[in-house]
Amino acid sequence: MQRAPSRRVLVVEDEPKMLAMIAQFLEGEGWEVYGCGTGEEALKLMTEVAPDVVILDWMLPGMSGLDVCRRIRAESKVPLIMLTAKADEVDKLLGLELGADDYITKPFSLRELSARIRAVLRRSSSAWREDRIKIGDLVIDLERHEVRKAGAKVQLTPTEFKILSILAASAGRVYSRLQLVDAALGEVYQGYERSIDTHISNLRKKLGDDSAQPKYIDTVYGVGYKMLPARGDADDSLER
Ligand code: CA
Repeated sequence: MQRAPSRRVLVVEDEPKMLAMIAQFLEGEGWEVYGCGTGEEALKLMTEVAPDVVILDWMLPGMSGLDVCRRIRAESKVPLIMLTAKADEVDKLLGLELGADDYITKPFSLRELSARIRAVLRRSSSAWREDRIKIGDLVIDLERHEVRKAGAKVQLTPTEFKILSILAASAGRVYSRLQLVDAALGEVYQGYERSIDTHISNLRKKLGDDSAQPKYIDTVYGVGYKMLPARGDADDSLER
């Protein structure tokens, strides 16, 4: 069964009192809150905690909220709400097409913030689910760059993660080594084709897969690799 999504919120606000107030309120609503006061910290936290929603103040010291929003959007579809100081800034923001999902003008009530968060999460929930690929007991979380096998985290290198994501996104489809190199490494050098074999071998080790009797990644001789579609639950229970 797919685990319930955790509820992590990143709040980027340089005014300590405001940050504390928002954090306390959201914690009370059951959120795991990560707060910071600069864009630089926010980008770091984005990769470290992979929040489910981001509350981002526009006026920040150093890197502006606009730039932070752009940087986040370049890599993530996470629901994002911007805080602005003036109503007319919202028009400006909308014109910039930064990719924020909503805007709240200060001052705002915490109840309003809570309602807006629920709204952006509702709107994004379908896209959100597509960010997780589930094959048998394997869950690949594309947003968090996390792989879990039967609930336990599997540590993969970025390249291994990419290869697994590509294969898993179209289970049953055969990929050539060249296609995998191209997709996972973005560049093709001579001799790299065979390096895929090493990555696959490491992947199998980490997933506890057996190349002779694969459960996840199958070798297609003379061609490349494919992800095996999940076996039925009945098979699983027989194995246990
Ligand atoms: Ca501010």
